[in-house]
Amino acid sequence: MQHLFKVWGEVASRLKSAKHILLICDYDGTLTPIVDRPELAILSEKTRRSLHTLARDRRYTVGVVSGRALPDLKSKVKVKGIFYAGNHGLEIEGISSSFLSPVAEELRPLVQVLGQVLSIALGGIKGVFVEDKGLTLSVHYRQVVDELEESKAKRAFDGVVAPLHNLGKVQVTRGKKVYEIRPPTDWNKGKAITWLLARCRGAGKKGGALPVFLGDDLTDEDGFKVVKEMGGISIFVGEEYPRSMAYYFLDSPRQVNEFLEKLIRLK
Ligand SMILES: [Mg+2]
Repeated sequence: MQHLFKVWGEVASRLKSAKHILLICDYDGTLTPIVDRPELAILSEKTRRSLHTLARDRRYTVGVVSGRALPDLKSKVKVKGIFYAGNHGLEIEGISSSFLSPVAEELRPLVQVLGQVLSIALGGIKGVFVEDKGLTLSVHYRQVVDELEESKAKRAFDGVVAPLHNLGKVQVTRGKKVYEIRPPTDWNKGKAITWLLARCRGAGKKGGALPVFLGDDLTDEDGFKVVKEMGGISIFVGEEYPRSMAYYFLDSPRQVNEFLEKLIRLK
């Protein structure tokens, strides 16, 4: 893995020679720093302006892909003329087209009930909270202080979710101090990026859009994999993580903003 700024010259020339660029960013931990509660992850005005400027550049198609629910993501980012992919891409709303996973839509009622059951089952454990994201659920445990409570939470979680998981009704993924309950579909951030790429100018043609994807967490690895296969630029955000599929890394969301500003200056 290489620090992106150390090899900026070569990356810049690839970006300059691309006819069109699909720029996709994850939200939490990529555009904003990781915080204790998801509602506190606020996009800086600087980063918003950068995204806005790039979105208005005809050479760019811009998108934000997140595990957050679509309405939540949109209300946090608030930039017009970009793609929003919520729930890891299960729901996408864009410039002229949108997508909703049929499997996820079908299981929405089950997920609702499961969210209520989990809230009750985990209710007695301090620092755990269940976030209902419509098509998926997130169980956050960042604020659980001791390990005993954490394993109590894990047991209660498994008690509720394991039977459904065993029946193939849901799948469970892990992120940074969060469990995600998702419908049983192989649709992920990688598939969402492929879907977005097909909607960019020059799609399918030789020398079509160059995908650039930035992410910081395990669910972003699906995106890195796809971008790598398509010869794009994959950027992990955080301390260098050799197991990541990403080719480059940046230290922090702050450096991500620096990167966006570099893109704007690149002519
Ligand atoms: Mg993230």
